[in-house]
Amino acid sequence: MRVRRYQNFINGQWVDSGSSSSVPNINPANTDDIIGHAPQSTRDEAQAAIAAANEAFPAWRNTPAPARGRILAKAAQLCTDRKEEIARTMTREEGKTLSESRGEVQKSINLFEYYAGASFRIEGRTSPSEVPSTFVYTLRQPLGVVSAITPWNFPFCIPVWKTAPALVTGNTVVLKAASNTPGCAELLAKIYEEAGLPKGVFNLVYGSGGTVGDELVNNPTIRAVSFTGSCETGGAVAKQAAAHLAKVTCEMGGKNPAVIMDDADLDLAVEGVAQGAFGSTGQRCTATSRVILHQKIADKFIEKLIERVQKIKVGDGMQDGVSMGPAVDKAQYETDLRYIAIAKKEGCRCLTGGEALPGKGYFVAPTVFDGVTPAMTLAQEEVFGPVLAVMRAGDFEEAMQIANGVKFGLTCSIYTSDANLVMRFTDRIEAGMVHINSPTVGGEAQLPFGGFKQTGYGSREMSDEGLNFFTQLKTVFYDYTGVKRQTNIY
Ligand code: NAP
Repeated sequence: MRVRRYQNFINGQWVDSGSSSSVPNINPANTDDIIGHAPQSTRDEAQAAIAAANEAFPAWRNTPAPARGRILAKAAQLCTDRKEEIARTMTREEGKTLSESRGEVQKSINLFEYYAGASFRIEGRTSPSEVPSTFVYTLRQPLGVVSAITPWNFPFCIPVWKTAPALVTGNTVVLKAASNTPGCAELLAKIYEEAGLPKGVFNLVYGSGGTVGDELVNNPTIRAVSFTGSCETGGAVAKQAAAHLAKVTCEMGGKNPAVIMDDADLDLAVEGVAQGAFGSTGQRCTATSRVILHQKIADKFIEKLIERVQKIKVGDGMQDGVSMGPAVDKAQYETDLRYIAIAKKEGCRCLTGGEALPGKGYFVAPTVFDGVTPAMTLAQEEVFGPVLAVMRAGDFEEAMQIANGVKFGLTCSIYTSDANLVMRFTDRIEAGMVHINSPTVGGEAQLPFGGFKQTGYGSREMSDEGLNFFTQLKTVFYDYTGVKRQTNIY
């Protein structure tokens, strides 16, 4: 059977890439299943997409915002109609379980609905002026052509949370999705096409970060870059975008802690940590990767946790009863196993898992290491897989120190029944999101999403922060006296 090759979507047309090189889209739960090939498009093709977006910009920025919002409302409806198709495509190419994929599609629908509604409130403000008979106000206006560069772990939702606010505020967009999840990006482009976006307003180009991604960052007509991915790539992207003074926002890695105090509801905490650490195979920027236990409850918590983790059924996410899918690809599978080997070598005690599992996919056992101390690799580096580090603290102050002792700062949890501790933790934790008595994971369309320290650079995403990033302010001074006078004394 002929394996399909994905096409780029440029200027409202589905077009073959002229490049002969491509990346296979492999089902990570069954590596015999080659779903298709994503072309490694050329720099010229990225430039063609940027040119189309430039061409489309004047008409799109002049389209009334509510009319732009109605197209997003239609996209929400199309996503709802195709929820199952999108979820199945996602599970087949990314590996997460079907219920996780359905959840991701639902979140994308919420985002479309939120930004469709936001089209009615892209607001400036009025202020009193220093000068008599002068009306001063601000306008929020689009930037121009913007690019979105996205990772594979939320292959539908992250492209939505970048492109929907960009489009509704009147920008035109070029998306480069991760090379190993091209099917979700294709479905998004089809939805935008069917929802009625004019040609050139949204463009999709498959290709490597080094070529297509590089062009989408460095092209001088790109006015903003919205990037999600690793700290290494994000750091380079931020520097390059800044070099031509494009706006940039980067959301990057995490090493998220869950602190469990001695007065916590342990069953609740065990469930929250298991879901946070092993949901989506640990391949979430918001995954719980460190659990910091008050020493008084540490042994009891660990016993319950191991019992819970050993019930996780690893397998093909399409199958009923499977609660954790494979690593996304060979590279991530090898990374998981490499970190497991490092942890063992550094003297951590493997309490469960710690190995690859048999089968035709990239299956790794959910793994828990005890005896992890703050300087160890597993305490400091993001694995991005199903590997949890257990750390112990004598008291709240020590737990706080461990929790903040990493370069990342995306999200965190605290499990306790002491309201004062909750307030102290919330105040002092160096993270962009705080969960109290609930897992580290999750975000909602209407709430800012992003991190402190080396996790987040630029602006928060989702919510009205997303609208702010993709707009610039214009301040207007209107002297309505109609007479010549000296107005500005400064
Ligand atoms: P990655 O390797 O940094 O890649 C992210 C995207 O950047 C991909 O589309 C990649 O393209 C592209 N890229 C690579 N080199 C580039 C360059 N020189 N210029 C421009 N673009 C370039 O990250 P990943 O492995 O896909 O994703 C995992 C990481 O994402 C983890 O660290 C995770 O924590 C982070 N993440 C963060 C958040 C958040 O909101 N904080 C959310 C999800 C994931 P190719 O794939 O084609 O190389």
